[in-house]
Amino acid sequence: MSGIDPFILRRLPDWLAFRRDLHRHPELGFTEYRTISKLAQRLRPLGYTLRLGPDAISREAIIGAPPASAIEAAKAQALASGALVEDVERMPDGTTALIAELRRSEGPIVAMRFDVDALALNEDSSDMHRPRRLGFASAAPGLMHACGHDGHATIGLAIAEFAAQNDTSWSGTLRLIFQPAEEGGRGARAMVEAGAVDGVDLFVALHLGCDLPSREIACAAKSMMFSAKWDVVFRGTAAHAAGNPENGRNALLAGAQAVTALYALPRHGCLATHVNVGRFQGGTARNVIADRAELEIELRGEAAAALDHMERRARWTLDGIAAAHGCELVVTEMGRTIGAETSPPAASLIRAVAEALPDIERVHDDWPLGGGDDAAFFMHRVQDQGGLAAYLILGSDLAAGHHAINFDFEEADIGIGVRLMAGVLAAATNGGFSFSDERRRTA
Ligand SMILES: [Zn+2]
Repeated sequence: MSGIDPFILRRLPDWLAFRRDLHRHPELGFTEYRTISKLAQRLRPLGYTLRLGPDAISREAIIGAPPASAIEAAKAQALASGALVEDVERMPDGTTALIAELRRSEGPIVAMRFDVDALALNEDSSDMHRPRRLGFASAAPGLMHACGHDGHATIGLAIAEFAAQNDTSWSGTLRLIFQPAEEGGRGARAMVEAGAVDGVDLFVALHLGCDLPSREIACAAKSMMFSAKWDVVFRGTAAHAAGNPENGRNALLAGAQAVTALYALPRHGCLATHVNVGRFQGGTARNVIADRAELEIELRGEAAAALDHMERRARWTLDGIAAAHGCELVVTEMGRTIGAETSPPAASLIRAVAEALPDIERVHDDWPLGGGDDAAFFMHRVQDQGGLAAYLILGSDLAAGHHAINFDFEEADIGIGVRLMAGVLAAATNGGFSFSDERRRTA
């Protein structure tokens, strides 16, 4: 592994500047115009072949896209802050996905997934918060990189540079997948449908943090949650609240009963489940029977059977409440995650690479992810094709938990992530690793 340190040491300051720039300009799922263009601008000169927009993500398979007005506003914002017109034009309708590929020789295809979206959150404005203190806190009110995806995108860029400019120890093809809309479980499935991981021999996704300290890594994520995200709408009939309420059909009352009924759903006997109603809105005025109520809900389970249990009962409950109030019910799926298991040979490969790196002090077989990640859709597709898939966790000391307003991670861990992923690329492709046992390619 000699020769790695000088390049990383030399490039790290620029990578951290890139990360801070992304942190300052967070973008929500399917509006990552600036982020993707900034990546594309850096990847092109390195010799990567780029697939952008509908070439990288299936328009038809996108679920949970923001309204067209939000997409147009994000485009304008991106163009005003450094995105290229030609990049933005290649990503219509929120198709903000990028696949960068570098083919060096015949040989295995190694794919790495980096999610790039931010969250709807107001970043901490106190001086205790390092991004604020150092001047790179979010410049977009209500938006924040609070899960470390700015770090993921930066690691992806850094790997791209490292593989193209410095590392002669790998062969085959490196495919870097920059995924929109991981939050809410929306982007990956649509990228799978566009063939993002077709032909891949080894797929690796990574996540920073997850309560694993700096200088520790886990070769696999355990208990990746199954989840379903629904928008629920009750449609009723408006009427005068005192004059003739009997003519109304009260959608707000139906919604209110739905909130409490969902939290009270009978649970699975042996599998963990979660339910959350994160948004509830209804009605128009004090003296009007409300004709509309909207809920954003999320159901989770630790296994497919657990989520299935929750989805079925949630649906029965919502149907019953709608019927009781004479309201129409519309349920729209806005996102979904599934579980996935890291392929054992891939975990062994990661362990061998990590154990040889002096910066990594402890290697865990697995570690709880603490949520879901739609990277599982990539993993399943790769494994179904006979390839290997892994989800590794890169430890990082966090200022606060994921999705908190004062979330921040240890930036030096970006260097460790680059070194680890570059090591995995080399070890998987330099001829010493056998994919053969696991490979049953089905064309
Ligand atoms: Zn995340």
